[in-house]
Amino acid sequence: MTYSEPARTTTRRVRIRRIRVAGLLVVIAAIAAALGYQSLPSSSSTAASPIDVLRGEHRGLRSEHRGALGEAGGAVPDGTTVFDDEVPGVANLDPALLRALRRAATDAAADGVRFVVNSGWRSPAYEEQLRREAIARYGSAAEAARWVATGTTSPHVSGDAVDIGPADATPWLSAHGAAYGLCQIYGNEPWHFELRPDAIAHGCPSMYSDPTQDPRMQK
Ligand SMILES: [Zn+2]
Repeated sequence: MTYSEPARTTTRRVRIRRIRVAGLLVVIAAIAAALGYQSLPSSSSTAASPIDVLRGEHRGLRSEHRGALGEAGGAVPDGTTVFDDEVPGVANLDPALLRALRRAATDAAADGVRFVVNSGWRSPAYEEQLRREAIARYGSAAEAARWVATGTTSPHVSGDAVDIGPADATPWLSAHGAAYGLCQIYGNEPWHFELRPDAIAHGCPSMYSDPTQDPRMQK
């Protein structure tokens, strides 16, 4: 198999460069948000999810790190959908959330919109790994807390949250999600949805600007 080595090295270099570019975009988005531009819908809906960036790094590590960072710990393969029962990150979601997501995804497909799951259920160890990486990326635990919760506070760990992509799918869910009880919770995370059954009758509750405003994160 040595003949494939040069090609693989090239692929890896390209991937690393892409991750660097994505990381730069996240930093720019974070600076823009800090300057008060977070309400600009065009910038927030197209910004790369920091989790996508961290997942991109995990993809490179996947062959060496199984367990906590592998699929069993909640990492999801590219292109995973809400119908992929064999992926623990999907299968371990709250059943009511999963039912709502499947109804929404079916109706979205009729509109030509396809959801993928970028992140769903996460083990506490995977959440903590993402948090450590976010602290390294953002330079402080306080800034990282705006993007990644802890292993004990994260609604991803309890199976109550899902990060939906790609960027052209999240506007569909923002517009139609309330009818399924699916709500965006944080202003800075247009990809993060949770089940709020009351939204079907009353619409989604107002968003927190970021997770640090969420009382659940104060525990
Ligand atoms: Zn999320």
